[in-house]
Parts: sequence; C-alpha cells; structure tokens
Amino acid sequence: MTKNMNKHSILRDKFGYSYFRPGQEETIDSILAGTDVLAVMPTGAGKSLCYQIPALLLDGITIVISPLISLMKDQVSALREAGCGAAFLNSSLSSGEYACAMRDIAGGNVQLLYIAPERLQKTDMLNFADNYNIPLVVVDEAHCVSQWGHDFRTSYLQIADFINGMDTRPVVAAFTATATVKVRDDIKKMLALRGPFVINTGYDRPNLYFEVQKPKDKKAALLECLEKRKNSSGIIYCATRKTVDETCRMLISCGIDAARYHAGLDDSERRKNQDDFIYDRRPVMVATNAFGMGINKSNVSFVIHYNMPKNIESYYQEAGRAGRDGAPADCILLYSGQDVRINQYLITHNDEEETVNEKLAAHNLELLKQMTFYAMADSCLRRRLLAYFGESAPAVCGHCSICLTEFNETDITIEAKKIVSCVYRLKQRSRSFGKTMITDILRGSKNEKILRFGLDTLSTWGIMSETDAHRIRIIMDYLIDEGLLMQEGSEYPVITLGEAGALLRDEQRVFMKLPQEQRKQSRAKEPFLNAGRVSIPSAPEIQDAPEDLDEALLDKLKKLRKELAASESVPAYIVFSDASLRDMCKKMPVTLDQFTDISGVGRIKLEKYGKPFIALIRENI
Ligand code: ADP
Ligand code: ZN
Repeated sequence: MTKNMNKHSILRDKFGYSYFRPGQEETIDSILAGTDVLAVMPTGAGKSLCYQIPALLLDGITIVISPLISLMKDQVSALREAGCGAAFLNSSLSSGEYACAMRDIAGGNVQLLYIAPERLQKTDMLNFADNYNIPLVVVDEAHCVSQWGHDFRTSYLQIADFINGMDTRPVVAAFTATATVKVRDDIKKMLALRGPFVINTGYDRPNLYFEVQKPKDKKAALLECLEKRKNSSGIIYCATRKTVDETCRMLISCGIDAARYHAGLDDSERRKNQDDFIYDRRPVMVATNAFGMGINKSNVSFVIHYNMPKNIESYYQEAGRAGRDGAPADCILLYSGQDVRINQYLITHNDEEETVNEKLAAHNLELLKQMTFYAMADSCLRRRLLAYFGESAPAVCGHCSICLTEFNETDITIEAKKIVSCVYRLKQRSRSFGKTMITDILRGSKNEKILRFGLDTLSTWGIMSETDAHRIRIIMDYLIDEGLLMQEGSEYPVITLGEAGALLRDEQRVFMKLPQEQRKQSRAKEPFLNAGRVSIPSAPEIQDAPEDLDEALLDKLKKLRKELAASESVPAYIVFSDASLRDMCKKMPVTLDQFTDISGVGRIKLEKYGKPFIALIRENI
C-alpha cells in the first residue's frame, strides 16, 4: 500500500475529483474511525467513493456485498481503470477466472473484493474470512435486507451471520438510495449494526427534471419525447413484458434504435441487449423493472415511464437511473388511469402464492395511492417526491413540469355539474359505471353497451358532446380527489356520488387549475446546492445549462470516448463520465496540466487518455 496517502490525495489522485460531495467525507471519517455506518444517499450521490476510499486506506481486504453481477463487474472495471486493486467473486466466473482472482488476492493485489450475497454461505468464503484481514464489510443496496423495501432478497438475511462468524468483527457500512424510516430501522436490525453513524444526505437530485404527462395518445407522446432527445441515451420503462415488446417494435418501425429487456427473454438476448445499451451501441432501452438495479451506466440522460409504477420508491429509484454522473437529465412519467388499475390488479392477485398477504396488499395499495397523487399533482413534483420521503422542500423548485407550466385557475362549475348529474341519473336507474363509460355517455356515444342499456335516453346523454374526452377525464379525476365523486371497487372501479349535494343545488362553485399549453423557460439548476441536511461543500460542482456547451464538440468527444472504450472492451462511461466530457467542453484543456483540472481525471486516466482528448480539443478550438 502506498504510504502518505490520505482521503484527499486519493480523491484527487485516483478519482480525479477536487471536492467531496455532501455526506461523503463524514461517512469516510466514520468508517476510518471504526464506527459502523448507515448511509442513505440518492442514486448518483457518490456512495461508492464513501467506502472505496477507506478501503484503499485500510490494511487488508474490504469485502463489498453487492446484489448484482453486472454492477460488480462495472465497479471493478472502474476501479481498475483508476489504478486500484479490485476483484469480484461470483457465479459468472469460470474456474480459471476464479483461480486467477484468488491468486490476485493471495498476491496482495486486491483491496476491494466484491462478492454476491449468495456466496456468503460457501465454505470458500468462510475460510477466506479466517485467512485474511478484513477491516471493513460493505453492504451495498442495503434495503434488500428488508421485506418492506422493494427489492427484498433472502440471501441478504445471511449477512449478519457471516459477519458474526468472523474472528474479528469488521466495521460494517451499509448503503442505500431508498429507505423510509421503516426500512432504515430494518437495515440496522437485520444487519446488526452496532451504534451506527447514520447519515441521510436528503433525497433531492437537483440535476433531474421531473415531468408528468397525461397524454391522450401515449405512443405519440413517447415519440415526441424521443424526438426531442435524439442524440442521448435513455430508458423507457413499461409495466409488462407485452408492452415492452410492442413498444420496442413500434420504436424500431419508426427508425429509433431501441433494444428491449425483460425477464421473459432468454439469457443471451438479454445480455446482448443490455450490452448494446451499456456500450452505447443502441441508445434507447425499453424494459420492465427487471432492468436496472445492476446497471451502473452513468450517462443515461432520460428515463421515461410509459406506465406508472406501483409506488413512489420504485419510481424514484427507476427515474433516478438518469443523470447519475450529475449531468442534466429528464424523468418523464406518461400517466393514464389504466396504469392504476393494472397495478391494483397486480397487488391484489399473486401468481406465486395461493393466498395474498392481506396486510401487505393493503400497505401496497396505500403506496399506489401516493404514486397516483404524484401523477395527478398540481403542485411542484419535486416537493411531492421529497415530501414522500419525509423531507421538506421549497413550494416551487423551478425545474419540474408543474413549476414550468402556466396554470389558469378555471371555473369548472358547469362541467362539474354535468358530470356529477350524469352519475346521479345513473344512480336513479340503479346503475354505476367506470370513467370510460361515463365519458362516453356524456359525449353522446352510441356504442353497443350504451344502446343495450338504453342510456341514450338519459337526460345527460350527449350534454358534453363538444368537450374533449381527455378534459372530461381530468375533471372527473379532480372531482374524485375533491370528494364530489367517489371511486369504488378495485378491479372494475365504478364512479359513485360523493359530497355533491351543494353543487347539484347550485350552492357551490368548483375551481380547478388547468394547464395552459406553453412551457415557461427552465432555469438551469446547480446540483447539490440544496442537497439537504448536510453541509454544503466549499466549492460545489456547478452545472452548465446545456445551451452553454459546444454540443458539436461534445458529440466528437463522445465518439472518441466510445472508440477508446471499445478498444479496451469497457463501457464508454468507464473511460469518462458525461460530466467529465461536459467539463472538457467548458474548460477546453489543451495541455496535460490543464487536463488534470477536469473533473474525473485522476493520475492513471491522465496518462492513459490525456493526449488523444487534448488533440481532439486542439483541433476544435
Ligand atoms: P451512487 O452509487 O451513489 O449511485 P456513484 O458512486 O456511482 O453513485 O457515483 C455517481 C457518479 O458521481 C460517478 O460518476 C462518480 O464518479 C461521481 N462522483 C462521486 N463522487 C464525486 C465527487 N466528490 N466529485 C465529483 N464526482 C463524483
Ligand atoms: Zn417543481
């Protein structure tokens, strides 16, 4: 181990960064002082450095328990690129590779060893723990230990036993991006943390822009979103495998280079598609939530949810896969009422177990409700997300679709009364229907069902024939939120009367904020300035608005990065993050000395890549 190293010199020399981000330094100090740690930091906050730096400073081998093979591989590649001794042990290794890793370890060349949780019970691991000095055990994605979390893994339950079985108890550091109080308490208990230093840097991701759309035509909305983001890489999440297949096919037929990923594909196709995306050979990935946890790709610049996920935690985690390197990125949710119903069905029906756990289902339905409130929100989206995690935020973030949309307070009394009257008339005939049917009646449809039930004779049939169906739906949703109407039944929900007496008697007026079409100009955000409860670093990374950068040069730098990465068989972002390339566009370094100032350029990367990048920048001055 190199002497005279400290946390600052490693940050600079190995990772190429000048400043710690919020929470990093405190976490590193605690680990080095021998205290257990539970660190809750959002995706992209830089959790890895919090344990990698101590691992490089401590004698012995730090074990990092990580749930997914691809994630380990990425981390190890990135560490090796930065000149750090790292290896992993998991089921993907051939016996030759395994032997090679063990030789590296025996030779003292490994300071960070990544292993899968399943491995903990194997005898080689138990012997390993006896034979080597292990100062630190890191539990990545620690929420996997909790049943209340969204990625529970049985294998995580063995971690505490593994640690307790070691002759000398190491420091234990647990990391997660998403942890409600319940999950946080579970982590402490299930991992048997001893008097841990708990740090929560807050959930805010200032570089992310949040948007909710309630499109009439999701396909068209999706194509429009992609059209605006042509040269960037992104993920489209769909609720089901079928939707993934259909959407991917649709995009390809429209000339978009999309790949797909879900659990129904065979291993080889999944691996190939994932690699195509990670190595930037295909920019768009259409996937179910099976895609993601192990994906470390830091240059994802948008995440579009084609369907609404089942809870805010999943949403925030999936959306949070955008912009991990701190560069600006967009998170867009395309909402429809159908999404709510599909989720309700999935929660209340369980394929694998005979009986549904009622308590868990009730809990999950409540979480779904919160997610739906987000989709229907008429106030700052970021504030809503943060409020869900128990964090306060300004009323207006200035960087979400609500804050950037002009809303008009509109008097909708007449429309509201028409809709409520329709439900009332149906009740008089002892009938109740869902939103679609009510909309059809109001718009004067003569579909088969309407004629069969004789609903075209209702006095409210056709009284909103001039009103767009989408608008009727939005108003109906609002009336449900306000309690004037109610929605009953989970599988086939029907609309019934709520507290609507005053409205029907003309004693109440109803106002609703309806969006105007045009968007206000977005303000560029400075990440980490309001990152929450920990101190602000002395010189935070300041982000540029995209228009400040020479996009043509950025594209050229990306191309060079891709070539260099391909020649080393690593993903492009392992060579440099998008944030580093953006910094190059900003600072335009033309000497090696100047190149050292670029964020993410450590000593090894300077030697390896400095010259070709400088040459390219010189050509473009
Ligand atoms: P997390 O695991 O919390 O999602 P990562 O550890 O993958 O986040 O870090 C996200 C990105 O931020 C990486 O590109 C990493 O190199 C970068 N990063 C981490 N710490 C710093 C820092 N102090 N300054 C600048 N960039 C950083
Ligand atoms: Zn906002």
